[in-house]
Amino acid sequence: MSSPNTNTLRLEVDKDGLALIILDDPLRPMNVVSPEWLEEMIATVERIASDDAIKGAMIISAKPAFMAGADLKYLMGRFDAEMSLQDAYVFSQRASRDLHRRMETCGKPFVAVLSGLALGGGFELALACHHRILVDNPKALVGLPEVTVGLLAGSGGTQRLPRMIGIQKALPLLLEGKTVGPAEALKLGMVDAVLPAQELLGAARAWLLGTPDAQRAWDKKGYRPAEGLGLLNSAQAAAYTMQVGRIAAKTWHNYPAPIAILDSVFEGMLMPFDKALNLESKYFARLLTDPVARNIIRTTFVSKGQADRLVRRPQAVPQSKVNRLGVLGAGMMGAGIAYVAAQAGLDVILLDTTQEQAEKGRDYSRKLLDKAVERGSRKPDQAAAILGRIRPTTDYSDLEGCELVIEAVFEDQAVKAAVIAKAEAMLGSGAVFASNTSTLPISGLAEASRRPAYFIGLHFFSPVDKMPLVEVIVGKQTSQETLARSLDLIAQLRMTPIVVNDSRGFYTSRVFQTFIHEGMRMLEEGVAPALIENAAKLAGMPVGPLALLDEVTVELPWKIVQQSIEALGDAYVRPCSYTVMQRMVEEFKRIGRRAGGGFYDYPAEGGRRLWAGLAEAFPLAPEQPEVGELRKRILYIQALETARCMEEGVLTHPADGDLGALLGWGFPSWTGGTLSLIDTVGVQAFVADCERLAKLHGSRFKPSAWLRDRALRGEPFYVQGAVA
Ligand code: NAD
Repeated sequence: MSSPNTNTLRLEVDKDGLALIILDDPLRPMNVVSPEWLEEMIATVERIASDDAIKGAMIISAKPAFMAGADLKYLMGRFDAEMSLQDAYVFSQRASRDLHRRMETCGKPFVAVLSGLALGGGFELALACHHRILVDNPKALVGLPEVTVGLLAGSGGTQRLPRMIGIQKALPLLLEGKTVGPAEALKLGMVDAVLPAQELLGAARAWLLGTPDAQRAWDKKGYRPAEGLGLLNSAQAAAYTMQVGRIAAKTWHNYPAPIAILDSVFEGMLMPFDKALNLESKYFARLLTDPVARNIIRTTFVSKGQADRLVRRPQAVPQSKVNRLGVLGAGMMGAGIAYVAAQAGLDVILLDTTQEQAEKGRDYSRKLLDKAVERGSRKPDQAAAILGRIRPTTDYSDLEGCELVIEAVFEDQAVKAAVIAKAEAMLGSGAVFASNTSTLPISGLAEASRRPAYFIGLHFFSPVDKMPLVEVIVGKQTSQETLARSLDLIAQLRMTPIVVNDSRGFYTSRVFQTFIHEGMRMLEEGVAPALIENAAKLAGMPVGPLALLDEVTVELPWKIVQQSIEALGDAYVRPCSYTVMQRMVEEFKRIGRRAGGGFYDYPAEGGRRLWAGLAEAFPLAPEQPEVGELRKRILYIQALETARCMEEGVLTHPADGDLGALLGWGFPSWTGGTLSLIDTVGVQAFVADCERLAKLHGSRFKPSAWLRDRALRGEPFYVQGAVA
């Protein structure tokens, strides 16, 4: 017997009366919790429940993975529709009550046959089955990573998992979104068996035939959770309090999901199961209607996905591939670029001024590969093959045949100009030349090129193997073909591009600098250094501006300022931290950690402490500002500069700005990025607050006429329904 083929699943029933629900979404590479699937699944479960001939059911997938989580693109649509709390609750209950709970209590046993990865909604489906069998394959990860997109496992995940494996084991999985492989899943009790692929269905059948009256522990009379009734147990109450503290220290109250998860677990454990599910739906609805989840999902999932699929690529240019990549300069950046390129299967010519330097660049890859072999993540022959693809040289004629060359030599216009000329003499007429400069305008550098249409900026971040972003800078004369081919290379390297137009500091460095300048400015105003650092962390920045400056050295922004003065003369507006930088570099000669100390001292025994001389150099103001006001200044100055980049056309799409902010310099993900932050605050409220800050702190906070007009029109950066 076989039912008509529906969209996302099929139902088959065998001669023993065992049903097979085969998940097979024809439109997507993975099965996901989409609205279509949900309705089909509910109908299928009803049919199984009402058909006396069916004794039980197995859920399997026809795809390599069992099921990923929710259809996040669909969720974005719900965000755009500005769902009410009540709508969000009903939305959650449709899955939680009408599918999962119904499956669990309909009187027929269900087995989840996890033949591959089962995450989020996929694993929640498995949790609602009476039995779970997972394939013995390290790629078959299971877990509930909803927290990483600002949500909670809202189809019973926060209730079933703690009841099955205990609160203490469930919390790290729910709060950190950690996913685990088969061995750990079995050990933790997340699944009941781990078996080779060919034994999965047989074991599921046997279990169903042997357990016709399966019932979950919490549906049996007299059920009490193993660890006692949540907060009524003093050990649990203490664990809850500790977790609240831990979450606050980690998230600074910027992310509502972890606390909602904690409350859902601890309050839910005190309740009968159905009431607990309703409670979970209430918490889920709150998160779903909170801007944080929308912000995270839009930037880290939707916009990132579009960037990875090269949404900004000029479509008319035929697809291209780089087989042989030239990298000029085998220093920190060149060596990193060579490593990711060789890993992606490209042949790399790594050129430096001496053979020794070039080989040192290749040794960087050797070290990383040796470590990968030690860890077991690479086989020795694979590592050798990758290393074999990097050819260190000093000879420009080796660049012949390279389809694309990236220069990463010293940050010096003259050095770069010489290298451009030498390389171009060896390149074919259509080869692309890219500069990894972090500060020199691309159109200026392109003047040294004989073929400026083939010249582009590809700004990688350090360390290249850990930072997936590449800022693509289109110069005045860069052709569409050059842009398309550069984007094709980035896809080959499995990295994420944003596309920006040329500007001093491009986009990322330009905006990021406002953060460190604002931090130093606060110091000059007499704000306590620890307060500045904490305000930045409170905003969600990964490190405080002073600690960060010590890492990159205060000399770096100082040099950029000097270069800008040289290039622009009086037209250049000096940053608000000019005096602090000058004094740190010239008067105190404390440029950073590398030079023995900067804003901090670095004692030999390790750690760091604020430099005692700061108190004298920048005396404390008698009245210290509110930390919330400092936090706002830190976030808003970056958002304002990003808005200026939109106004000037440096950015053409808000998604590039937001993605660049999150991936490029660690702007906090709860905001969704610098422009999402403005939309979240509301452009009118943002502009009004910036006007106030401008009166207090100076014209750098003054919103432009362009932004004020936007505020008057109430025009957000993201138009509903359009995320690119
Ligand atoms: P680096 O000093 O570590 O390496 C530069 C390398 O270029 C050295 O190995 C040097 O020997 C070589 N070199 C110098 N002149 C050369 C020439 N004429 N021909 C061939 N090789 C030559 O510098 P880096 O940090 O790798 O930076 C390189 C470039 O990347 C700079 O333009 C820098 O602004 C940019 N960048 C750096 C970072 C970063 O975080 N370090 C990030 C993004 C971009």
